[in-house]
Amino acid sequence: MRVKLENLTKIFPNKKNSGEVIAVNNFDFEIPDGTLIGLLGPSGCGKSTTLFMLSGLLKPSSGHIYFGDEDVTNLPPEKRGVGLVFQNYALYPHMSVKQNIMFPLQNQKMGKSEMMARVVEAAKLVQIDELLERKPSELSGGQQQRVAIARALVKSPNVLLLDEPLSNLDARLRLQTREEIRRIQRDTKVTTIFVTHDQEEAMSISDYIVVMKKGVVQQIDVPQKVYDEPINLFVAKFLGTPPINVFKGRIENNQLFIGEEMITKYKADDQLVYVGIRPEGFIVDANGPLSGEFKSLEVMGRDSSVVSTNPNSESPIIRSIVPSDQEIAPDEKGKVHFFVKPKKFFIFNADTEERIFEKE
Ligand code: ATP
Repeated sequence: MRVKLENLTKIFPNKKNSGEVIAVNNFDFEIPDGTLIGLLGPSGCGKSTTLFMLSGLLKPSSGHIYFGDEDVTNLPPEKRGVGLVFQNYALYPHMSVKQNIMFPLQNQKMGKSEMMARVVEAAKLVQIDELLERKPSELSGGQQQRVAIARALVKSPNVLLLDEPLSNLDARLRLQTREEIRRIQRDTKVTTIFVTHDQEEAMSISDYIVVMKKGVVQQIDVPQKVYDEPINLFVAKFLGTPPINVFKGRIENNQLFIGEEMITKYKADDQLVYVGIRPEGFIVDANGPLSGEFKSLEVMGRDSSVVSTNPNSESPIIRSIVPSDQEIAPDEKGKVHFFVKPKKFFIFNADTEERIFEKE
């Protein structure tokens, strides 16, 4: 099912100062049928509010939501055909797995055998069909989350909404379950919106990522594109581990400077800028124009991370990823030198923090 958000806005009263909080501001996006969307952003950016509006649990202050061609903005949750999965799986502890999955079907006019067939189908999909007679307390966290997903899928929803569904799982299960969610989504082809503040999680399973900040959508694109072409400094900083390195710099006479070091030619108007360089965007080379005081070398298997400092860096250390077999030899002043790879650095205006693209 195609889902369209049209100028969707939610304003809450702010009880503290009798003002208001714009939790979601003019969200405008058409989600293609059968895709998995990762809604990503820091705490308080409006992810859950967006999801609650999609589910019908919250009424928008303005704007519209369409499922297919139908305007569902004023439809109650039960008429929308949404499956919801929350962070705390909210299973009924006294019911078996089977009864938990069957629960949403209770009010439907459906025969017992059809109900059972649906339950088994949903349980098979999430691979818990062996566990139908158990109680939730007899399941691992990952298994409980699968039950919650089966319960959300049993009514064949138009849209599946997942709110931080992996937060309660340990690191290994998190990885495994996120792959499961991707597989289930591919199998069912149900349009899915997945809320997370974990950029790696969103990058790894989403068809499209929506990055939000303070209620405002910053960028929507396929994950690799958001990583490779961030639209502003916030997006550049939000995606990537280790994070992007940010330096204070300037453009002067079509040249980019960090401190007194001329890094590269860059055709743009003279201005103060931030320079974002991905850790993999450096080439360590004694002749490189950028330098940092060498601190340590962290070996991470195939790659190593050169840790250094630079007075113009926004963060206390700079991390640059190099192949592990590369010799790293600081000069006599204890400095390492870098070239910056083309297309692996981004320039942002120092005031607006918007990306400055090079002139043709
Ligand atoms: P988190 O990752 O912490 O869950 P989020 O991105 O999901 O955060 P929301 O829960 O959507 O963020 O909240 C967005 C903004 O709206 C926040 O500033 C929050 O304080 C505010 N907000 C949410 N619900 C209410 C409410 N019922 N009344 C007033 N303000 C609210």
